[in-house]
Amino acid sequence: IRLRAVPFPAPGEEGTWVLVTLDDITHFEALETTRQKFISNASHELKTPVTGIRVAVENLQDGGLVLAEGETSLKIILRSLDRMVMLLDDISELSRIETGALRLDPRPLTAGPFMAEFMESVEPLGRARNVRIRAEVDPAVRDHAFRADPMRLGQLLENLVSNAVKFGPPDSEVRVEARLEGEVLAFAVADQGPGIGGQDLPRVFERFFRAPATRAVPGTGLGLSIVKHLAVLMGGEVDVASELGHGATFTFRLPPSDTKA
Ligand code: ADP
Repeated sequence: IRLRAVPFPAPGEEGTWVLVTLDDITHFEALETTRQKFISNASHELKTPVTGIRVAVENLQDGGLVLAEGETSLKIILRSLDRMVMLLDDISELSRIETGALRLDPRPLTAGPFMAEFMESVEPLGRARNVRIRAEVDPAVRDHAFRADPMRLGQLLENLVSNAVKFGPPDSEVRVEARLEGEVLAFAVADQGPGIGGQDLPRVFERFFRAPATRAVPGTGLGLSIVKHLAVLMGGEVDVASELGHGATFTFRLPPSDTKA
Protein backbone atom coordinates (compact mmCIF):
# COMPACT_ATOMS: atom_id res chain seq x y z
CA ILE A 1 0.00 0.00 0.00
CA ARG A 2 1.32 3.46 -0.89
CA LEU A 3 0.08 6.26 1.36
CA ARG A 4 0.15 9.85 0.15
CA ALA A 5 -0.89 12.94 2.12
CA VAL A 6 -1.38 16.28 0.37
CA PRO A 7 -2.07 19.33 2.58
CA PHE A 8 -4.13 22.18 1.16
CA PRO A 9 -5.76 25.31 2.64
CA ALA A 10 -9.25 24.63 3.91
CA PRO A 11 -11.75 26.39 1.62
CA GLY A 12 -13.33 29.35 3.39
CA GLU A 13 -11.94 28.36 6.78
CA GLU A 14 -8.82 28.78 8.83
CA GLY A 15 -6.33 25.94 8.87
CA THR A 16 -5.33 23.18 6.54
CA TRP A 17 -7.03 20.10 5.15
CA VAL A 18 -5.14 17.01 4.24
CA LEU A 19 -6.04 14.75 1.35
CA VAL A 20 -4.93 11.18 2.07
CA THR A 21 -4.81 8.60 -0.71
CA LEU A 22 -4.14 4.91 -0.30
CA ASP A 23 -3.08 3.02 -3.43
CA ASP A 24 -2.80 -0.71 -3.65
CA ILE A 25 0.46 -1.14 -5.56
CA THR A 26 0.92 -4.88 -4.93
CA HIS A 27 0.48 -5.74 -8.59
CA PHE A 28 2.71 -2.91 -9.73
CA GLU A 29 5.47 -3.95 -7.33
CA ALA A 30 5.27 -7.59 -8.40
CA LEU A 31 5.63 -6.50 -12.03
CA GLU A 32 8.55 -4.28 -11.17
CA THR A 33 10.28 -7.11 -9.30
CA THR A 34 9.75 -9.46 -12.27
CA ARG A 35 11.16 -6.86 -14.64
CA GLN A 36 14.23 -6.23 -12.50
CA LYS A 37 14.82 -9.95 -12.08
CA PHE A 38 14.55 -10.42 -15.83
CA ILE A 39 17.08 -7.70 -16.58
CA SER A 40 19.48 -9.00 -13.96
CA ASN A 41 19.17 -12.59 -15.24
CA ALA A 42 19.54 -11.52 -18.85
CA SER A 43 22.67 -9.49 -18.20
CA HIS A 44 24.10 -12.29 -16.10
CA GLU A 45 23.48 -14.80 -18.92
CA LEU A 46 25.03 -12.48 -21.51
CA LYS A 47 28.12 -11.92 -19.38
CA THR A 48 29.33 -15.51 -19.83
CA PRO A 49 29.73 -15.40 -23.63
CA VAL A 50 31.06 -11.82 -23.50
CA THR A 51 33.73 -12.93 -21.05
CA GLY A 52 34.49 -15.93 -23.27
CA ILE A 53 35.03 -13.66 -26.25
CA ARG A 54 37.19 -11.30 -24.24
CA VAL A 55 39.47 -14.07 -22.96
CA ALA A 56 39.77 -15.58 -26.45
CA VAL A 57 40.55 -12.25 -28.10
CA GLU A 58 43.18 -11.45 -25.46
CA ASN A 59 44.68 -14.85 -26.08
CA LEU A 60 44.77 -14.18 -29.84
CA GLN A 61 46.36 -10.82 -29.22
CA ASP A 62 49.13 -12.56 -27.29
CA GLY A 63 49.65 -14.81 -30.30
CA GLY A 64 47.97 -17.84 -28.72
CA LEU A 65 45.63 -19.70 -31.03
CA VAL A 66 44.87 -22.48 -28.59
CA LEU A 67 43.35 -21.89 -25.17
CA ALA A 68 43.94 -24.02 -22.09
CA GLU A 69 41.28 -26.65 -22.76
CA GLY A 70 42.82 -27.36 -26.14
CA GLU A 71 40.12 -25.37 -27.91
CA THR A 72 41.04 -22.70 -30.43
CA SER A 73 40.31 -19.09 -29.57
CA LEU A 74 38.30 -18.70 -32.76
CA LYS A 75 36.12 -21.68 -31.91
CA ILE A 76 35.39 -20.18 -28.50
CA ILE A 77 34.56 -16.82 -30.08
CA LEU A 78 32.18 -18.45 -32.55
CA ARG A 79 30.50 -20.54 -29.86
CA SER A 80 30.11 -17.49 -27.60
CA LEU A 81 28.64 -15.45 -30.44
CA ASP A 82 26.20 -18.25 -31.24
CA ARG A 83 25.14 -18.30 -27.61
CA MET A 84 24.63 -14.53 -27.59
CA VAL A 85 22.51 -14.67 -30.73
CA MET A 86 20.45 -17.50 -29.22
CA LEU A 87 19.91 -15.50 -26.01
CA LEU A 88 19.06 -12.28 -27.82
CA ASP A 89 16.63 -14.08 -30.15
CA ASP A 90 14.84 -15.70 -27.22
CA ILE A 91 14.83 -12.50 -25.16
CA SER A 92 13.35 -10.43 -27.97
CA GLU A 93 10.76 -13.12 -28.76
CA LEU A 94 9.74 -13.30 -25.09
CA SER A 95 9.47 -9.53 -24.85
CA ARG A 96 7.41 -9.38 -28.05
CA ILE A 97 4.96 -11.83 -26.53
CA GLU A 98 4.93 -10.18 -23.12
CA THR A 99 4.38 -6.65 -24.35
CA GLY A 100 1.45 -7.86 -26.41
CA ALA A 101 3.19 -6.96 -29.67
CA LEU A 102 2.50 -10.43 -30.96
CA ARG A 103 -0.95 -10.75 -32.48
CA LEU A 104 -2.51 -14.11 -33.11
CA ASP A 105 -3.95 -14.93 -36.47
CA PRO A 106 -6.35 -17.83 -35.80
CA ARG A 107 -7.61 -19.81 -38.77
CA PRO A 108 -9.74 -22.87 -39.31
CA LEU A 109 -7.48 -25.92 -39.33
CA THR A 110 -7.83 -29.67 -39.60
CA ALA A 111 -5.78 -31.83 -37.25
CA GLY A 112 -4.55 -34.39 -39.83
CA PRO A 113 -3.13 -31.99 -42.44
CA PHE A 114 -1.82 -29.66 -39.73
CA MET A 115 0.15 -32.51 -38.16
CA ALA A 116 1.43 -33.74 -41.53
CA GLU A 117 2.80 -30.30 -42.35
CA PHE A 118 4.22 -29.85 -38.87
CA MET A 119 6.00 -33.20 -38.95
CA GLU A 120 7.58 -32.34 -42.27
CA SER A 121 8.89 -29.06 -40.85
CA VAL A 122 10.49 -30.65 -37.76
CA GLU A 123 11.89 -33.74 -39.45
CA PRO A 124 15.32 -32.12 -40.06
CA LEU A 125 15.67 -31.30 -36.34
CA GLY A 126 16.22 -34.94 -35.49
CA ARG A 127 18.66 -35.69 -38.28
CA ALA A 128 21.86 -34.46 -36.62
CA ARG A 129 21.33 -36.75 -33.64
CA ASN A 130 19.65 -39.51 -35.58
CA VAL A 131 16.51 -39.03 -33.52
CA ARG A 132 13.37 -40.27 -35.18
CA ILE A 133 10.39 -37.95 -34.79
CA ARG A 134 7.23 -39.97 -35.12
CA ALA A 135 3.65 -38.73 -35.37
CA GLU A 136 0.80 -40.52 -33.73
CA VAL A 137 -2.55 -39.15 -34.78
CA ASP A 138 -5.63 -40.89 -33.48
CA PRO A 139 -7.67 -41.76 -36.63
CA ALA A 140 -10.70 -40.17 -35.00
CA VAL A 141 -8.77 -36.91 -34.78
CA ARG A 142 -7.59 -36.67 -38.40
CA ASP A 143 -10.69 -34.85 -39.60
CA HIS A 144 -11.09 -32.82 -36.44
CA ALA A 145 -11.60 -29.16 -37.24
CA PHE A 146 -10.27 -26.54 -34.86
CA ARG A 147 -9.21 -22.90 -34.79
CA ALA A 148 -5.70 -21.75 -34.03
CA ASP A 149 -2.87 -19.61 -35.34
CA PRO A 150 -0.93 -22.23 -37.33
CA MET A 151 2.38 -20.37 -37.06
CA ARG A 152 2.21 -19.91 -33.30
CA LEU A 153 0.90 -23.40 -32.65
CA GLY A 154 3.75 -24.68 -34.82
CA GLN A 155 6.27 -22.54 -32.94
CA LEU A 156 5.02 -23.83 -29.58
CA LEU A 157 5.19 -27.47 -30.64
CA GLU A 158 8.51 -27.01 -32.40
CA ASN A 159 10.02 -25.68 -29.17
CA LEU A 160 8.87 -28.85 -27.42
CA VAL A 161 10.14 -31.13 -30.19
CA SER A 162 13.50 -29.37 -30.32
CA ASN A 163 13.91 -29.88 -26.55
CA ALA A 164 12.87 -33.52 -26.88
CA VAL A 165 15.51 -34.05 -29.58
CA LYS A 166 18.15 -32.07 -27.71
CA PHE A 167 17.72 -33.87 -24.40
CA GLY A 168 16.93 -37.29 -25.85
CA PRO A 169 19.83 -39.67 -26.44
CA PRO A 170 21.14 -40.18 -29.98
CA ASP A 171 19.21 -42.80 -31.97
CA SER A 172 16.19 -42.38 -29.73
CA GLU A 173 12.62 -41.59 -30.65
CA VAL A 174 10.40 -38.59 -30.11
CA ARG A 175 6.68 -39.11 -30.31
CA VAL A 176 4.29 -36.31 -31.28
CA GLU A 177 0.72 -37.19 -30.53
CA ALA A 178 -2.54 -35.46 -31.40
CA ARG A 179 -5.61 -36.71 -29.56
CA LEU A 180 -9.02 -35.63 -28.39
CA GLU A 181 -9.81 -35.52 -24.70
CA GLY A 182 -13.54 -35.02 -24.91
CA GLU A 183 -13.85 -31.70 -26.73
CA VAL A 184 -10.28 -30.70 -26.02
CA LEU A 185 -7.63 -31.15 -28.69
CA ALA A 186 -4.35 -32.14 -27.06
CA PHE A 187 -0.85 -32.36 -28.50
CA ALA A 188 1.77 -34.35 -26.60
CA VAL A 189 5.52 -34.50 -27.21
CA ALA A 190 7.27 -37.42 -25.51
CA ASP A 191 10.98 -38.23 -25.46
CA GLN A 192 13.30 -40.92 -24.14
CA GLY A 193 15.69 -38.47 -22.49
CA PRO A 194 16.94 -38.14 -18.90
CA GLY A 195 13.62 -36.80 -17.64
CA ILE A 196 13.20 -34.07 -15.04
CA GLY A 197 13.58 -34.56 -11.28
CA GLY A 198 10.67 -33.84 -8.94
CA GLN A 199 12.14 -30.66 -7.49
CA ASP A 200 12.95 -29.24 -10.95
CA LEU A 201 9.63 -30.16 -12.52
CA PRO A 202 7.62 -27.16 -11.23
CA ARG A 203 10.40 -24.80 -12.33
CA VAL A 204 10.98 -25.74 -15.99
CA PHE A 205 8.64 -23.03 -17.31
CA GLU A 206 10.46 -20.30 -15.33
CA ARG A 207 12.57 -17.89 -17.31
CA PHE A 208 16.24 -18.81 -17.44
CA PHE A 209 15.69 -22.00 -15.44
CA ARG A 210 17.93 -24.86 -16.54
CA ALA A 211 17.99 -28.06 -14.49
CA PRO A 212 21.46 -28.69 -12.99
CA ALA A 213 21.45 -32.22 -14.42
CA THR A 214 21.23 -30.99 -18.02
CA ARG A 215 23.41 -27.86 -17.87
CA ALA A 216 25.91 -29.42 -20.27
CA VAL A 217 23.29 -29.26 -23.04
CA PRO A 218 23.36 -25.81 -24.66
CA GLY A 219 20.29 -23.66 -24.07
CA THR A 220 18.97 -20.38 -22.80
CA GLY A 221 16.35 -21.55 -20.33
CA LEU A 222 13.85 -19.37 -22.19
CA GLY A 223 12.31 -21.84 -24.64
CA LEU A 224 9.72 -23.17 -22.22
CA SER A 225 8.85 -19.66 -20.96
CA ILE A 226 8.07 -18.82 -24.57
CA VAL A 227 6.01 -22.01 -24.82
CA LYS A 228 4.10 -21.13 -21.67
CA HIS A 229 3.38 -17.60 -22.87
CA LEU A 230 2.24 -18.78 -26.29
CA ALA A 231 -0.01 -21.37 -24.61
CA VAL A 232 -1.64 -18.72 -22.43
CA LEU A 233 -1.96 -16.35 -25.39
CA MET A 234 -3.81 -19.07 -27.28
CA GLY A 235 -6.06 -19.62 -24.29
CA GLY A 236 -4.69 -23.12 -23.75
CA GLU A 237 -2.54 -24.88 -21.17
CA VAL A 238 0.76 -26.65 -21.19
CA ASP A 239 1.99 -29.14 -18.64
CA VAL A 240 4.75 -31.65 -18.15
CA ALA A 241 4.90 -35.17 -16.76
CA SER A 242 8.26 -36.75 -16.12
CA GLU A 243 10.22 -39.06 -13.93
CA LEU A 244 13.99 -38.90 -13.61
CA GLY A 245 15.51 -41.39 -16.03
CA HIS A 246 12.25 -42.09 -17.83
CA GLY A 247 11.86 -39.32 -20.39
CA ALA A 248 9.50 -36.37 -20.37
CA THR A 249 6.09 -35.69 -21.89
CA PHE A 250 4.91 -32.15 -22.53
CA THR A 251 1.24 -31.70 -23.36
CA PHE A 252 -0.46 -28.66 -24.85
CA ARG A 253 -4.25 -28.45 -24.71
CA LEU A 254 -6.20 -25.99 -26.80
CA PRO A 255 -9.25 -24.42 -25.17
CA PRO A 256 -12.46 -26.32 -26.06
CA SER A 257 -14.16 -23.19 -27.42
CA ASP A 258 -11.36 -22.80 -29.92
CA THR A 259 -11.35 -26.37 -31.12
CA LYS A 260 -14.32 -25.80 -33.41
CA ALA A 261 -13.49 -24.36 -36.79
P1 ADP B 1 16.73 -24.64 -22.69
O1 ADP B 1 16.28 -25.87 -23.39
O2 ADP B 1 17.17 -23.56 -23.62
O3 ADP B 1 17.69 -24.89 -21.57
P2 ADP B 1 13.98 -24.46 -21.84
O4 ADP B 1 13.21 -23.32 -21.25
O5 ADP B 1 13.48 -25.01 -23.14
O6 ADP B 1 15.47 -23.98 -21.97
O7 ADP B 1 14.03 -25.64 -20.80
C1 ADP B 1 14.38 -25.34 -19.45
C2 ADP B 1 15.02 -26.55 -18.79
O8 ADP B 1 14.03 -27.58 -18.61
C3 ADP B 1 16.11 -27.22 -19.60
O9 ADP B 1 17.35 -26.59 -19.43
C4 ADP B 1 16.10 -28.62 -19.03
O10 ADP B 1 16.80 -28.66 -17.80
C5 ADP B 1 14.63 -28.87 -18.76
N1 ADP B 1 13.98 -29.56 -19.90
C6 ADP B 1 13.21 -29.01 -20.86
N2 ADP B 1 12.76 -29.94 -21.73
C7 ADP B 1 13.27 -31.11 -21.31
C8 ADP B 1 13.18 -32.47 -21.78
N3 ADP B 1 12.46 -32.78 -22.87
N4 ADP B 1 13.83 -33.43 -21.08
C9 ADP B 1 14.56 -33.12 -19.98
N5 ADP B 1 14.69 -31.87 -19.49
C10 ADP B 1 14.05 -30.88 -20.14
